[in-house]
Amino acid sequence: MSHLSVELTAPNGKKYTQPTGLFINNEWVASSKGNKITSINPTDESEIAQVHAAEPEDVDKAVEAARAAFNNPTWRDMAPSDRGDLLYKLSQLVEQNKEVLATIETWDNGKPYQVALNEDLAEVSGCLKYYAGYADKVHGQVIDTGPNKLAYTIREPLGVCGQIIPWNYPLGMAAWKLGPALACGNTIVMKAAEQTPLSILVFANLIKEAGFPPGVVNILNGHGRIAGAAIAQHLGIDKVAFTGSTATGKEIMKSASVNMKNITLETGGKSPLLVFDDADMDQAIKWSHAGIMSNMGQICTATSRILVQEGIYDKFVEAFKKQVSEVSKVGDPFSDETFQGPQVTKAQYEKVLNYIEAGKSDGATLAMGGEAYKNVGEGKGFFVSPTVFTNVKSNMRVFREEVFGPFVVIVSFKDEEDALQKANDTTYGLGSAIFTKDIVRAHKLARRIEAGMVWINSSQDSDFRIPFGGVKQSGIGRELGEAGLDAYTNKKAVHVNLGTWL
Ligand code: NAD
Repeated sequence: MSHLSVELTAPNGKKYTQPTGLFINNEWVASSKGNKITSINPTDESEIAQVHAAEPEDVDKAVEAARAAFNNPTWRDMAPSDRGDLLYKLSQLVEQNKEVLATIETWDNGKPYQVALNEDLAEVSGCLKYYAGYADKVHGQVIDTGPNKLAYTIREPLGVCGQIIPWNYPLGMAAWKLGPALACGNTIVMKAAEQTPLSILVFANLIKEAGFPPGVVNILNGHGRIAGAAIAQHLGIDKVAFTGSTATGKEIMKSASVNMKNITLETGGKSPLLVFDDADMDQAIKWSHAGIMSNMGQICTATSRILVQEGIYDKFVEAFKKQVSEVSKVGDPFSDETFQGPQVTKAQYEKVLNYIEAGKSDGATLAMGGEAYKNVGEGKGFFVSPTVFTNVKSNMRVFREEVFGPFVVIVSFKDEEDALQKANDTTYGLGSAIFTKDIVRAHKLARRIEAGMVWINSSQDSDFRIPFGGVKQSGIGRELGEAGLDAYTNKKAVHVNLGTWL
């Protein structure tokens, strides 16, 4: 295995062994063509490591291993509570290794270390533990259809599940997908994002250490158009679960139709946050700032369109800018002072800068930021100043398109109807937030807003016990909570005749 790992020392001094291979059948193997992905530190643009990139032949091997594991009595006939024990063990191993895993997240992704440790890693171990408890509670039903019949349902696993995850929460997204799939007895071929290939490989070692049988979880790095596409098209895969952009989600839907795979898609958003003139202003400012500026704005549910009632609009804009200048400290993500690290890659950094130009050229007013931030270290790294646009019209790109950066538009509205019209004027429907003290208005709007999730007087509440997902072009299906189990089981109906043919 020595040629499939490297010894690394992270910028915070943490030393660890970084696997670099493909994790298939609980073994590290090289990519069939020896192609590599280079992982770049977004803080200073230095190379961290090179890892193997899967080709379609490697996806075939992973699918073969996952299929064999699915049919192997060791896994297929394992008592559900024993599957739960394995997941619980994995959650404990994550907890024990959280410092090294958080270090890698920060190094590879650029997110602040304290956030990686206290939020991302807590989410990973918490989510795995939550689904460990579900493993022996995935019940069918007995349905009374009359005295001569016995009818019942069995909830059975789907089979081999392809899981394609993004780079904004590398381990968090892995846990959201692995937890319910494994609790239900599926086997997995997961592809991590090429932008953040490292932490998942250290996590793979913990899967083996927890005692999962070979082939139950296979983890590949690889390019989306090669390894990702091979998963989406594979005839040996029964389901594909994906988180990422809407454009890629549509491609995956098309590919998945080849064998009518079950699909779960969690895609983009342009989530609105409504502030009414009776809202607690201080709270609205704090939440609306966190709702777009956390995680460098790289959150699918980011409340990136702030809609403010006209009477308080100017006051809100000033207070929001003050909050940004006081809280959004841009800097080295390993520093405890830092709120905002670099964007994940050069491509994302350039995408945000391009939207700044689009905002300006479409005639919006740049109220704050609007440039690359060069005051970290030696001026390298993919840092962007937190950016606020006002005077934004609903036909502008910055109002309609997902930027995925520390970039917000603040728009005014007249009354409830106008707020709702503007909030729903989007092809997306992921998150939404409403700030008001009027509970009747809050609940009425919560029903009429076109979104999978509504936050009343907050933003970004996410909890692995609560279903997560979108409507419109923000996705299909739900992850997390009890609903997450539906995404990984079939309901088989069994009819037993207790009578005689007349
Ligand atoms: P992407 O959707 O292209 O990538 C997400 C995952 O899909 C990665 O693992 C990638 O390798 C894989 N993939 C890419 N093309 C594929 C294909 N044809 N078939 C199968 N898998 C494929 O996203 P991106 O290019 O990394 O980011 C672009 C934009 O997507 C961002 O700017 C942001 O707007 C959005 N995004 C959203 C989320 C989210 O959480 N919803 C996460 C990441 C990115």
